[in-house]
Amino acid sequence: PAVIRARGIDHYYEGQTGWIHALSHLDLDIPREEFLCIIGPSGCGKSTFLKIVAGLVEPSAGEILLDGKKITGPGPDRGIVFQEPALFAWRTVIGNVEFGLQMQKMPKAQARERAQQVLDIVGLGHVTNLYPYQLSGGMRHRVAVARAWALTSAKLLLMDEPFSAIDAINRMTLQDYLIDTWMKEKRTVLYVTHDIDEAVYLADRILLMRPSPGRIGRYFHVDMERPRD
Ligand code: ADP
Ligand code: ADP
Repeated sequence: PAVIRARGIDHYYEGQTGWIHALSHLDLDIPREEFLCIIGPSGCGKSTFLKIVAGLVEPSAGEILLDGKKITGPGPDRGIVFQEPALFAWRTVIGNVEFGLQMQKMPKAQARERAQQVLDIVGLGHVTNLYPYQLSGGMRHRVAVARAWALTSAKLLLMDEPFSAIDAINRMTLQDYLIDTWMKEKRTVLYVTHDIDEAVYLADRILLMRPSPGRIGRYFHVDMERPRD
């Protein structure tokens, strides 16, 4: 069964001169354990769809189900990384990562251990007690990635160009972690990127979102099997 089932999703934003039709009649199933990349030109509605799945935007029309249940808001069953890292400025690096673990009610000592472990993976094990303002932009992005990855309760990871501000070497480490570890833990990823090479490297399936004149979108599926042991 699909983790995400979207039917007839439409979304409108109020713009300066009228309504902006950001998504039209989107139907999509995301099967469990799939790594789905969404690519498409700027403004075609990729982020809007991600925010709908995250529970941060309610679609103007249509139905969206997570494991058969209507999405009514964000929750610790979804790890989210947006383009902007949005860290808690008054919490340390490790405090930021522990925050989500507290939401999922993990005991304190275990949360500390888990947070430290994931910060080591993203290469921030040596700055856990610093505050976000003391970090570089790329490091802040890695904290946001760690915060989402640490959630053991998250079966679905939603990522919107998560690595675009991260240097090439760290980016490769993170991409390989995603494929080698996260996916082997039998989780599902919905990943938005501008970078078609990145999509080809990461994805089981690529969804091309394409707004055509008049904002009636069309999309094409490219199915690619990635052998995974
Ligand atoms: P993408 O992620 O593919 O670049 P978005 O989902 O961000 O696309 O945007 C889709 C369309 O909706 C664009 O025309 C964008 O300008 C518009 N849009 C996005 N967010 C808002 C908002 N909060 N208010 C008004 N218009 C928005
Ligand atoms: P029709 O008008 O024949 O229903 P559309 O051109 O509206 O066809 O949509 C064709 C297909 O593209 C549909 O399966 C729809 O779910 C999908 N689709 C429509 N808008 C978008 C969008 N913004 N992003 C991704 N897929 C879309």
